[in-house]
Amino acid sequence: MNNASVIAGGLIEKIGEEYSGFVYRKFEGDQEVKKIKEDRAIKDHQTGLELIAKSLLDIENGAIQSNEEIHAVGHRVVHGGEKFSQPTIVSDEIVQELKALSFLAPLHNPANLNGIEVATNVFPKAVQVAVFDTAFHQTLPDYAYRFSIPKSFYEAHGLRAYGFHGTSHAYVSRTAAKFLNMESKTFNAITIHLGNGCSMAAIRNGKSVDVSMGLTPVGGLIMGTRSGDIDPGLLLFLMDHLHMSSQEIDRLLNKESGLKGLAGDNDLRNVLAKYDDGDPDAVLAVTMYIYRIKKFIGSYVAALGRVDAVIFTAGVGENSAAIRALVCENLGILGIELDEGKNEVRSPDPRVISSEKSAINVLVVPTNEELEIAMQTKEIV
Ligand code: ADP
Repeated sequence: MNNASVIAGGLIEKIGEEYSGFVYRKFEGDQEVKKIKEDRAIKDHQTGLELIAKSLLDIENGAIQSNEEIHAVGHRVVHGGEKFSQPTIVSDEIVQELKALSFLAPLHNPANLNGIEVATNVFPKAVQVAVFDTAFHQTLPDYAYRFSIPKSFYEAHGLRAYGFHGTSHAYVSRTAAKFLNMESKTFNAITIHLGNGCSMAAIRNGKSVDVSMGLTPVGGLIMGTRSGDIDPGLLLFLMDHLHMSSQEIDRLLNKESGLKGLAGDNDLRNVLAKYDDGDPDAVLAVTMYIYRIKKFIGSYVAALGRVDAVIFTAGVGENSAAIRALVCENLGILGIELDEGKNEVRSPDPRVISSEKSAINVLVVPTNEELEIAMQTKEIV
């Protein structure tokens, strides 16, 4: 951790399906020295993490000699509610508290708990640390996080905006301040995380003061399959007039909406290809996607008063010059102007893409949630 070098990396996806994807990569210095990629059956998370441990310990391709070399395991836990605003060492008591919070993130928190349990079995000597996706946004003022419904719903059930992708917003804003030689504690920024899930945050003096996602990760921007903000009256219409159940509405708004609902595909690369061919559904989807981001930029400029940087990150934000150009088009009135040439540069490093004249710096900062989780984990351990 002293030089934050990655000694191994990897991914397991589609656990429990007929074939799961498994990738293991070993690094020496900055060089990838081995890559194993295979499809194989991985029935559950225990089996998956055992495979990871076996790969890490493998005599030929492994990166460690013994399980005991792992001092800590950092877990990304989606929902920490109002209780957790800091990384937390997991104990039996904490597990119970996380279980109690599962009602706020029924898809994610139980899976995160499963990960913690399995990691405890596989690395019994390691300290397990939960790093919360909501934690960075616990600095929101009440006028930003409360819903304008009676107070009792907040007090009795914790119904308020929490915001997500906190680890990413924290990492890219801190990295940008450092890159611009500015002090984090006086740095004001708008961070735009555009991946499959999309969210934006307003950051004042290095702290999150507003966020586009709300109680759940379905609010705010238009995403791959999620609707983002909609009129709450729409839900009543779906229930009363179309007789849809809560499960059906959940599926509609989380899995069938966003770019997929508008243009039939959740991968922005495919939607952009259709956009370039003039497909009307794709043109509308991209126009709406961009329009929503622009409106949030405008509102966050108003919320912050002074903005040092607008920061793009995640799959779309880091890789799509076209989306960045469309977002920043005609924002001169806010002091935002891109340099076309700089915007086209592809690089794994943080970079400025605004013109000399732009009053606000526009940056691309590749996110690194694993590193941020590792750093926070190290600090607390
Ligand atoms: P996740 O939210 O799952 O972590 P990522 O941050 O990896 O997702 O982002 C995935 C998204 O990034 C996909 O929708 C993909 O289409 C999009 N993406 C990746 N590269 C490009 C690109 N060059 N142009 C447009 N979209 C891209």
